[in-house]
Amino acid sequence: MALHKLELFENNIGVSDAVLLEPIEEEGFIENLKKRFHHEQIYTYIGTVVVSVNPYRKLPLYTDDVIFEYKSRNIYELPPHVYAIADDAYRSMRDKNLDQCIIISGESGAGKTEASKVIMQYVAAVSGKGQDIDKVKEQLLQSNPVLEAFGNAKTNKNDNSSRFGKYMDIEFDYKGDPIGGLITNYLLEKVRMYNNFPVEQFFVEGLAFLTVTLTELSQEIKNICCKPSLSSWAIPLLQKTIMVRTPGKKKVMGVLDIYGFEIFESNSFEQFIINYCNEKLQQIFIELTLKEEQEEYIREGIEWIHVDYFDNSVICDLIEKSNVGILAMLDEECLRPGNVTDTTFLNKLNQTCCEHPHFESRGTKKARSDKSLPHDSFRLRHYAGEVVYKVDGFLEKNNDLLFRDLSQAMYQCQHSLCKDLFPEGDPDKISLKRPPTAGSQFKVSVAELMKNLLSKNPNYIRCIKPNEQKRARVFEEHLVRHQVRYLGLMENVRVRRAGYAFRQLYPQFVYRYKMLSAATWPNWYGVPKDGVKEILIAQDISSDEYTFGKTKLFVRNPRTLFDLEERRRD
Ligand code: ATP
Ligand code: MG
Repeated sequence: MALHKLELFENNIGVSDAVLLEPIEEEGFIENLKKRFHHEQIYTYIGTVVVSVNPYRKLPLYTDDVIFEYKSRNIYELPPHVYAIADDAYRSMRDKNLDQCIIISGESGAGKTEASKVIMQYVAAVSGKGQDIDKVKEQLLQSNPVLEAFGNAKTNKNDNSSRFGKYMDIEFDYKGDPIGGLITNYLLEKVRMYNNFPVEQFFVEGLAFLTVTLTELSQEIKNICCKPSLSSWAIPLLQKTIMVRTPGKKKVMGVLDIYGFEIFESNSFEQFIINYCNEKLQQIFIELTLKEEQEEYIREGIEWIHVDYFDNSVICDLIEKSNVGILAMLDEECLRPGNVTDTTFLNKLNQTCCEHPHFESRGTKKARSDKSLPHDSFRLRHYAGEVVYKVDGFLEKNNDLLFRDLSQAMYQCQHSLCKDLFPEGDPDKISLKRPPTAGSQFKVSVAELMKNLLSKNPNYIRCIKPNEQKRARVFEEHLVRHQVRYLGLMENVRVRRAGYAFRQLYPQFVYRYKMLSAATWPNWYGVPKDGVKEILIAQDISSDEYTFGKTKLFVRNPRTLFDLEERRRD
C-alpha cells in the first residue's frame, strides 16, 4: 500500500493511472509511459484498462511471490499489473457469476501472446488444486507451445510471431476451479506453416490427452488423401480447436490474443482481413467502453460531458454490409462466371464504393490524379489510419479452393473428430451456387467472436511496442505515439477523466467504509445514500470530488478512494 502511494505521486516514476494526469494530453501521456518504462514500470492503468509496454527483457514481475501479492487484492492497492486485471476478472467471474473476457490487442511484437500466457499462469496459480484440476491446467498451459509450434513464425517484426488469432475460453466450476477449455483460432497464415514438422513425435512428448486423438486422426487422414504433410491436415485443426470441454453449467473466462492493425509497404488480402477484424474489435471497444460509460451517466442522472470520438461503424459497413460491402463484392466476383480477375473486382468496387468517404481508388473521380495511389490498389481510411491494398491475389485467396476440396474429402472420414473439424465439408451444407469463400467464412467467425465477447464482461490489455529493433531499454516516442493513436488510448483517458473515475453502489460503499464515521459504525440502519453522506462528511472529502447518482456514488479521482482505503486500514 505504502509503495503504491509513493508510486502514484512520485514524479520520477510517473503516475500509475493515466486518469491522474494533469493536463490530459498525448505528449504527457507518452512522457508518463516513457518515464515508467525506464523505471521498469511497464504497466500503467487507464481506469481499469492496462497499458503494457514490451520491456524486451526479463523483469522480476512474474514470480510466485508477486502472484501471491496480487491474489484477492483490490485493483488499486498495488502497482498496475496484468495480474491485477486477471485477479479482478477471475473474482468477478467466481463471486459475481459474471462471465469475463480479456481482450489483448496491439501491434505485432507488442507482447500480446506473452500477456495471454501471464494471465493463464495467474489463473492456474490462484485456482484450486487436485488431480483432475491439475490435469486440466496442464492441458491448458500446454496448448500454447503446441499452437506456437504450428502457427508461429519468425517475421521482421517479431521472432515468435503468432500468425493466427487465438481465442481461448477457460471453463470453471462454481468453486472457480478450471474444468475445461476451448481454443478457437482465426485466420492462420497457411503459407508460413512449416511443412516437415515431426507431428506425432511432438504430440507424444507434448500432451497426454491429445496424443491419442491426433495420432489416430493423422493415420485416418493419411489413409484417405493427400501426401500426409502437416500443412494439409493441421490447418483445420488449428483453425478450430483444442477441446477439453465439459458439459453442464459453468462459468467462463475468455482470453483473446489477436494481432493488431497491420500496415505494411505492400498490403494484400491478409492485411485486409486482419484490419477488418481490428475494426470490429475497435467497434466493440467503443460500444462497451465509451457508450456504456455515457449510458451509465444517463441512467444515474449525472451530467455527461460530451467526448468526441470516432465512430467506426461506417467503415465496418463498407467492408461487411450484405450485397454492397467489399466482402460481398469480392464474393460476387469470385462466383461470377466469365472472365473475372482482380482488376474486374477493383472495377466493381470503383462503381459501388466511389461515393464512400472511406474508400479511394484511381478509378474513381475523387482520387483520379492521386499519384501516391497505384492503379492496381484501393485505399481504405481505417480508424487506425489509411491503408493501401493491392488487389493482386484477392480473388484466388478468397476462393481458397484447396481448403474447400480438402474439407470435402475430410468429411468423408470415419473418425468423428474429423467430421467435427471439417463441418464445411458436409455435402448437405455445400451449396453449389455459393460455396463458402475465405472472406465470408471469416466474416461469420468474426461475427461469432463479437457476439461472444459482447456477452461477457470485458477487460482490456493494450500492448505497445517501444522500438522496432526488439531492444531492451529503448523507447522511441514516435513509434509509441503512432500506437497510442491507433489504439485510441487518449479517447479512453478523456472519457474516464471527463467524468468520474470510480463508482460504487451506495450499500457497498457504506459496508466497506462504515468504520470511517461514528454515525455509520458499527451499523447503519438508515437509507444507504445518507450513510454515504455521513462518511464523506466525516472524512472531510471535498464536494468537488464526488457526485450522487441514482444508485451509486461517483468519485472523480482514484486518489480519493485510495485515501479512504488507507484510512480504513489504519
Ligand atoms: P504477434 O502479433 O507477432 O504474435 P505479440 O504481440 O504476440 O506479436 P509477443 O510474441 O507476445 O508479441 O512478444 C514478442 C517478444 O517480446 C516476446 O517473444 C518476448 O521476447 C518479448 N516480450 C513481450 N512481452 C514481454 C514481457 N512482459 N517481458 C519480457 N519480454 C516480453
Ligand atoms: Mg502473438
